[in-house]
Amino acid sequence: MRRWFSEAAGEIAAAVRLLVRTIAEHVRSPSRVDWLIICGGVLLSILTIGIGIMQTGMFSRSSLFDPSRIPDEALMTGGDISLAMFQEPVRDMPGRFPARTHKPKIAERYVNGGPDPDHFFPAHDLVEVHDPRVWWESENDDHTGDTENDHIMHRALEVPLRRLIELVVAKGGTLKVQDTYRESGIHNHRSLHKEGRAIDITCDELGLEMLARLAWAAGFGWVYHEVPKRGGAHVHASVPAEGMFLTDRQRQVVEAEIMRLHNERTATQVAQDG
Ligand SMILES: [Zn+2]
Repeated sequence: MRRWFSEAAGEIAAAVRLLVRTIAEHVRSPSRVDWLIICGGVLLSILTIGIGIMQTGMFSRSSLFDPSRIPDEALMTGGDISLAMFQEPVRDMPGRFPARTHKPKIAERYVNGGPDPDHFFPAHDLVEVHDPRVWWESENDDHTGDTENDHIMHRALEVPLRRLIELVVAKGGTLKVQDTYRESGIHNHRSLHKEGRAIDITCDELGLEMLARLAWAAGFGWVYHEVPKRGGAHVHASVPAEGMFLTDRQRQVVEAEIMRLHNERTATQVAQDG
């Protein structure tokens, strides 16, 4: 038995020695088969990395739309909704968002698509969004000759905007809405303001860089920290037309909750001040 065992061990040792010698020879002078294996391995690695990049969306255009299309059950089914649903950011907040830069780095039209008059139906696509915690420019200007209403916007803009309002409020700021839907006037004909898919915002307390970072975290398709030479720096944020929408009933529920909380807070404030 012991003899058999030592013979077997010897055989195994010899096999291992042969294997090591074979590998060593092949490494010194690779044969055609070895090259095929090496090339195959390299190709496989490139393919794996490529698929990985596509999955993370670095080059995939469609994935750029994803953040504004959160697979949120309630939104998709028109079900129950609450303000809490808008309090979580949908992207990591970027560390910096310098002036004159935009995210993503490609042009707005590649992310959100340009204005599309053939598929834009104001009566269906535009909604009115109200939130007393927001400063709306159209309620604060001198109303000389303009008929603008900053509450009117494309329904696809509403979800990221409501999320941004929550993020700004949580940081102790007041969002200022300077410009939303503009049928005519200051914006060029390629502007998404023509369809209410773009919004111009500022925030005195937090500053524009922080506001741009929050807007990105809130899920707008394209965010621009815009600093024109003539002045009027602001954050321009826009969305693709195929976003996540609230139903009219959901909007009523959310706005009722906002009003209730706002009135409670105002009452507490009055009581404290009195
Ligand atoms: Zn704008």
